[in-house]
Amino acid sequence: MTATIIDGAAIAAGIREALTRQVDDMIVGGLLPHLAVLLVGDDAASASYVRGKVRAGQQTGIKVVIHRIEADIDPGQDPGQTERRIRDRIDLLNADPDVHGIILQLPVPDGVDSDALLDRIDSLKDVDGLHPANQGRILQGRERYLPATPHGVQQLLVRSGADPGGKHVVIVGRSRLVGMPLAAMLAQKRQGANATVTVCHTNTVNLPSITREADILVAATGRANTISANMVRPGAVVIDVGVNRVDDPTRQRGYRLTGDVDFDAIREVASAITPVPGGVGPMTVAMLLNNVTRAARIAQHR
Ligand code: NAP
Repeated sequence: MTATIIDGAAIAAGIREALTRQVDDMIVGGLLPHLAVLLVGDDAASASYVRGKVRAGQQTGIKVVIHRIEADIDPGQDPGQTERRIRDRIDLLNADPDVHGIILQLPVPDGVDSDALLDRIDSLKDVDGLHPANQGRILQGRERYLPATPHGVQQLLVRSGADPGGKHVVIVGRSRLVGMPLAAMLAQKRQGANATVTVCHTNTVNLPSITREADILVAATGRANTISANMVRPGAVVIDVGVNRVDDPTRQRGYRLTGDVDFDAIREVASAITPVPGGVGPMTVAMLLNNVTRAARIAQHR
């Protein structure tokens, strides 16, 4: 069997087109959705992700403003200084009625307490869905903002005809950003969910025996080749969330991006699989923009 490739870029483009029409209508009605992105320090990968968000936001008609915060480079300096700077900016953005969504691009420099900062973002503007209030709402099935990556995974499944209802979904990875919210979302008793969910991690005993039980296998480990072909049940749907840089001297930039699964081998076993890049990544951006338009509507009725 050769798996169908789930084209995340095409599905995301369709979602963004629909969003563009919604944003057009909002602008005509006098509401310009506005996302503020806090970018701390000079991490190259973070800067590249942020550029992607700005580009996609602009194409959709959403205003995206980057707030660069200098990080104290001298390791002897108090990281509290950087943290205070970020905190002050969050307070300003929380108070600004024209700003609808705020995201803090992670990771932040060592020593900076990202939890305290994420907790400080107004939960009504927390379009990354990382505030405890928003994560708690997901558990209760009363979500306000779904984190963009797990929401993107759910939409990929539903829109590619792999509805999770009644399926056994095995998620490898239990992060706050991906694995945990995805598990909570897919276990809800509702359309597009209603799955039996198993969450695995580094302390899971005999991981392959569990992944082989999956109708839908989601890999979100941050390690290339965590999932090999013998860990996949023939005919399963495989969603690869991972984005890993692997050295590749044949590329001009010296590396290539790869997911968490052995794509070439699993392609011969699975019924459908997402590529990296071009799978979950574009969906993440589209679902973030979706949250920004939602935040603008929420602000209108505050
Ligand atoms: P994370 O916070 O590092 O969490 C990784 C999780 O995977 C942890 O729960 C860890 O278990 C588990 N894990 C790691 N190696 C494992 C192994 N060999 N076997 C079983 N479990 C293992 O990562 P994350 O933020 O969830 O991100 C995961 C990946 O998705 C990364 O590659 C990231 O770049 C990517 N990502 C992509 C997008 C996108 O838009 N495409 C968005 C977000 C993240 P423990 O809890 O036991 O440590």
